[in-house]
Amino acid sequence: MLEVLRRIVQEVSDARDLEQALGVIVQRVKQAMAVDVCSVYLANYHRRQYALMATDGLNPSAVGRVSFRMGDGLVSVVADTAEPLNLANAPDHAQYRFVAETGEARYHGFLGVPIVHHRKVLGVLVVRQGEARCFGDEEVAFLVTMAAQLAGVIAHAEASGSLAEVQPGYGFGGLVLTGVPGAPGVGLGTGMVMYPPARLEAVPDRQVADTEAEAVTFKTAVATVQAEIEALGERLGAHLSTEERALFEAYSMMLGSGSLVDKTLERIRAGNWASGALRETVSQQARVFEEMDDPYLRERAEDIRDLGRRILLCLQRSGRRKPPPYPERTILVGEEITATMLAEVPRERLAGVISARGSRSSHVAILARAMGVPAVVGVADLAPGRMEGCHMVVDGYRGRAYVNPSLAVRAEYERLALEEAELAAGLEDLRDLAAETRDGRRVILHVNTGLVSDITPSLSSGAEGIGLYRTEFPFMVRDRFPSEEEQRLIYRQVLEAFAPRPVVLRTLDVGGDKPLAYFPITEDNPFLGWRGIRITLDHPEIFLVQVRAMLRANKGLGNLRLLLPMISRVSEVDEAVVLLRRAHQELVEAGEDLALPEVGVMVEVPAAVYQADILARRVDFLSVGSNDLTQYMLAVDRNNSRVAELYDALHPAVLQAIAQVVAAGHRHGRPVSVCGELAGDPMATPVLLGMGVDSLSMSVASLPWVKWAVRNFSADQAREICREAMAMENTQAVRERLAEVLEQAGLGGLIRAGK
Ligand code: PEP
Ligand code: MG
Repeated sequence: MLEVLRRIVQEVSDARDLEQALGVIVQRVKQAMAVDVCSVYLANYHRRQYALMATDGLNPSAVGRVSFRMGDGLVSVVADTAEPLNLANAPDHAQYRFVAETGEARYHGFLGVPIVHHRKVLGVLVVRQGEARCFGDEEVAFLVTMAAQLAGVIAHAEASGSLAEVQPGYGFGGLVLTGVPGAPGVGLGTGMVMYPPARLEAVPDRQVADTEAEAVTFKTAVATVQAEIEALGERLGAHLSTEERALFEAYSMMLGSGSLVDKTLERIRAGNWASGALRETVSQQARVFEEMDDPYLRERAEDIRDLGRRILLCLQRSGRRKPPPYPERTILVGEEITATMLAEVPRERLAGVISARGSRSSHVAILARAMGVPAVVGVADLAPGRMEGCHMVVDGYRGRAYVNPSLAVRAEYERLALEEAELAAGLEDLRDLAAETRDGRRVILHVNTGLVSDITPSLSSGAEGIGLYRTEFPFMVRDRFPSEEEQRLIYRQVLEAFAPRPVVLRTLDVGGDKPLAYFPITEDNPFLGWRGIRITLDHPEIFLVQVRAMLRANKGLGNLRLLLPMISRVSEVDEAVVLLRRAHQELVEAGEDLALPEVGVMVEVPAAVYQADILARRVDFLSVGSNDLTQYMLAVDRNNSRVAELYDALHPAVLQAIAQVVAAGHRHGRPVSVCGELAGDPMATPVLLGMGVDSLSMSVASLPWVKWAVRNFSADQAREICREAMAMENTQAVRERLAEVLEQAGLGGLIRAGK
C-alpha cells in the first residue's frame, strides 16, 4: 500500500493542473482499492454546494453537472462532520440521496472521507462498491491519506487560479493567500511574475500575438542546444566510456526525435510563449518517464528537465526575451523575489511584492520596508505560473494577498489605500512635534535600520536616534566577513549622520533565519540553535573585530550604544563585556583616545525576562525584542505562514512579560526600550506607554503613525488601557478592546487604514 501511495502522490504532485490531478486520483484509487467507483466532490461555498468534479466508475457525463446542496446527501454528512463515513449499505442511511444521472443505484458499499486544508473542508473523496460491505481500517486509512494529499493539491490549485477555471464561481470571488507581513501598507495593481534564469518550473504562461515568430525563436534555441551538446559530446568523447557517451547521444535523440520539440511547437501555436510552452511539455514528458517501472528509465526524467533548462537558458539569452514592460502599478510575484528584482522596477511603478519564500527579516522585506512598498512574503501556497496580468491586492499589514479579488474587495482596499495616503499627508505636520502624551509625558521614538540607504529618510522623519541598527545586513550582502576597516566605515557613516543623537549598534545576530552564505550552519532547529551571541562568543575573533570597528567608528562622537542579542544566560553578558573591555584596552594601549560605550541587552528570550533584574544591574539599558520574544513565548515560528495567525505580540502573556521587563529595568534605574515590530504598531502604543516604556524603535514608515497615537492619549489613560489589556484572556479580546480605544480617541483612521 505504501509503495502504491508513494507512486500516486508523485503522479498527483506532477499533474499539470487540477483536472489532471483529480483524474489521476480517482483512477488510481479505484484501482488500488479494487472498488467500483471513486469520485471527488469539491465544496463551492459561494453556491453552497458540493459538485462532482471527477469520477472513475460513475457516468462521466455527470461530472460538472451533478452536485449536492450543502446539508444534503451523504457527501454533506462527511463534510459536516469532517470525519470518514463508512457504510455497508448506503441507501439505508437517512441522508442518502439517489441521483439518477450518475447511475448509482447499483452501489451499496460507501466510504467517504473529507478533504481538509487548514481546518477548512474543501471537498469529499468517495469510493463505492456494488455489493454491500464495510471497508476495513487499512482501507479507511489509505483513503484518508489520499485525501490529505489531495487537499494540498486543491489548495495549490485555488492559489494558482486554476480551480476557478475548472469550477467557475468557486470561492468568494478571488483567492486569498496567506503569508507573513513583509512590509506594511496596502498595494493594488497588476501581477508581474519574476523568475530566476533557467528555473523552468517557475516560468509563467504568457500569451504571444506572433506565434510564428515565437516558433522560430524556439527552433533556433533548440538548434543551439543541439550544437552545444554535440560539441560537448565530441570534446569529452575521448575521456568517456561508451556508456557515458550514450548519455549525450540520448540527449541528441530527445532533441531530434520530435516529441519534445513538436509538442512545444503545438503549444506555441496555441498562443503560449516559447518558455511557457516548453515548461509544460517538459513537465509532461518528465512525468511519463517517472511513471515507468524501470529505474533506469525513471532517471531519464531528470535528463528531460536538464534539456529543458538548457533550452530555456538559450531562449533567455536571445535578444527577443525582453520582459514585457512593467505595468503602471506593478505587483511583483514570484517563488523568490530578490532584492535585485525589486530594485529593477522603476519606483513609481512598484505597488507591491508577493513572494513564496522569504521572511520578515529577509533582504527583500527589509528593502521593501525601506522603500515603503507593501510586501507579503512566505506565501506557502503561492503558484505564480498563472498570475501574470491578474488583478492583485497586497495587504502588507495582515500578510494577505488577493488574486483577482471581487469588485467589493478591490473597492474596499482602494478606499483603504486612499485613506492611508490622506492620513500620511496629514501626519507630515507632526514631524517637528515632540512625541508626548496629552499631559506631557515624553516617549523617545527611534528608528530601526540596517541599511545605509535608510539614513536619509530616517533623519528626515524626525527620529531621535537609531534604536536598533542590525549589523548583520552588511555581513549578509558580502561574500566574506567584512574587514574591521570596512565595518568601521559603515558604522561611522551611521554614527556621524545621527550624532549627537544616540545610535544603538547591535552586535552580529546571524543564525536562525539570517544565514551567511560564507558561514553555513545546518541545524534542525536553527531558531533554537547557534544564533546571535552564541556564535560570536564562540568566535571571539569575529566579535572582537566587530567591537573594535564600533569603538573606532565612535571616535570623537560618543553617541554609540552597544546592544547584545539573544541573551539567555547572565554569563553571556559577562563574557561579552570582558571582550569589549579587552578590545577597548588594546585600542587605548595603541594610543587611541576612545570612550567605553553604554552597553544594553536585548530581552527576547523568556529566560531573560525572568532574569531582567540581574541583567539590569549589569548593563546600562534593556531593549525588548518583541519579534523573538513573541516567537519564543508563544512557541510560534515567526516566519511560518501556517501558524502566522497564532503569532501575535499582543498576546496578554507577551504583554505581561514586557511589563515585567520595564518594571525590572526601572527598579535599577535603567531605561527600557522596545525595538521589535510591536513598537511600530500604533495599536500597541497606548499599552506600551502605559507600561512606562522609555523609548520605542521602529521602521521609519511607522514613526509618524506612532507619534500620532502617542499624542492622543494621556499617561493615565494609557496606564488604564494597559492594565485592562494585560488582564484579558486572549489576543482577540485585546485587539477588539484596543480597536475600540483607538476609535474613541479619534484614531479610527489607524484601524481603517489597516495600521
Ligand atoms: C526582535 O527580535 O524583536 C528584534 C528586534 O530583532 P530581530 O527582528 O532582528 O531578530
Ligand atoms: Mg531578535
